[in-house]
Amino acid sequence: MGIQVLCIGTELLVGETTNTNLTFLGGLLTAIGQEITREWALPDDRALMLAAIRQALGESELVICSGGLGPTDDDLTREIAAEALGVPMTLHEPTAERIRELYARRNLTNREYRIRRQALIPAGSEIVPNDWGTAPGSWCRAANGSVLVLLPGVPRELKPMFTSFVLPRIRAEFPPRVRRHTVAIFGHPEALVEERTLKALNGMPGVEPAYSVKTEAGKCEVRLTVKAGDDDRLAAGVAALEHEFGADLHPAGTELAALLTADLKARGWHLATAESCTGGGIGQQLTELPGVSAVYRGGVVAYHNDLKQALLGVPAALLDRHGAVSAECAEAMARGAAARLAAEVVVSVTGIAGPDGGTADKPVGTVFIATLVKDEVKVTRNQFPHDRRGVRGRTITSALNQLRSHLLATP
Ligand code: ATP
Repeated sequence: MGIQVLCIGTELLVGETTNTNLTFLGGLLTAIGQEITREWALPDDRALMLAAIRQALGESELVICSGGLGPTDDDLTREIAAEALGVPMTLHEPTAERIRELYARRNLTNREYRIRRQALIPAGSEIVPNDWGTAPGSWCRAANGSVLVLLPGVPRELKPMFTSFVLPRIRAEFPPRVRRHTVAIFGHPEALVEERTLKALNGMPGVEPAYSVKTEAGKCEVRLTVKAGDDDRLAAGVAALEHEFGADLHPAGTELAALLTADLKARGWHLATAESCTGGGIGQQLTELPGVSAVYRGGVVAYHNDLKQALLGVPAALLDRHGAVSAECAEAMARGAAARLAAEVVVSVTGIAGPDGGTADKPVGTVFIATLVKDEVKVTRNQFPHDRRGVRGRTITSALNQLRSHLLATP
């Protein structure tokens, strides 16, 4: 079995602390070809901790514990780890001396009990140095050969201790188990990404796909996993996906706004936005990107009809006839922005974010998105099945995706 991670601390279970240590460890261990096969989040409870450490050590050759190494009586990890390992605790005198000096510098006196608690380690274990706090960690070996690593819960201590000491040791002592490669697919819903991925990987045993939707980023990531050493299989799997998804496939971590900006830069075109129901959210997303001013001219947020007329030149008669939430209005907003903001490329949106304002033929979640590229306008009618926040979020990513597809289709 792969690596097991035990995150200890009642605060993790009562909604007070987000378990960022697991995310951190998962990211770094994955990057070196290791696999976390189970995570435990445990309260500061003696019996539960002891049972969990024993079971994990029986099943896995590497078990990593975070939390419960502090000076207070509810910090139980060290002594329970020693019990699980079947060894006594010993005082690590150099550590005690270091903590004494630290406390003296902070004018903390009469702390001998707390100092000794933190300097006790399971007998036979190695110290994982903590230059960022007081309690050190330990690298302990169980009788069956499995390794138990104890680290503090405080992320600003755990992170550097793990990167500087534990990670190199794992690299040296535990050969990689798997190889992974993740790609980002833009413009397709998860179910379709899965269907096409399975089709592309048909006949490639040993290449396991997994999917992770990043709704807010408008993409679906596909992670391919093979056994360590099967690099050729992995390369073949990635090549199959590249062939299947073509220009919709990009390296993991690619942002939609970055793709758009790069494309516009390459063509020397400028972009403007005309937003109603997103209230500037598209512009906000674009301007998160440094250097976007090279291509982004700016945008108009026209919520009220009179501003759609005054700032974007949407004709009053059009608004009377079709309403503000209409394909005609979205197109007029896009054409108005192109002319008034001097842009070759525009994205405009108008819709009903809710919860009120829906009608039978235009229910809440109806959003019209227009994209204009060099005078050609494409308008889509969308129905987003979410609350106000969700409708606005989906509108932003769909608008950027529609623009990306429109640009791809423009020579
Ligand atoms: P300390 O010396 O501070 O007592 P410790 O090893 O005993 O260190 P904990 O007391 O378990 O660590 O946790 C200290 C703080 O670290 C917690 O208040 C919490 O904010 C944070 N923390 C603990 N575990 C995690 C975790 N898994 N992910 C993120 N933060 C955590």
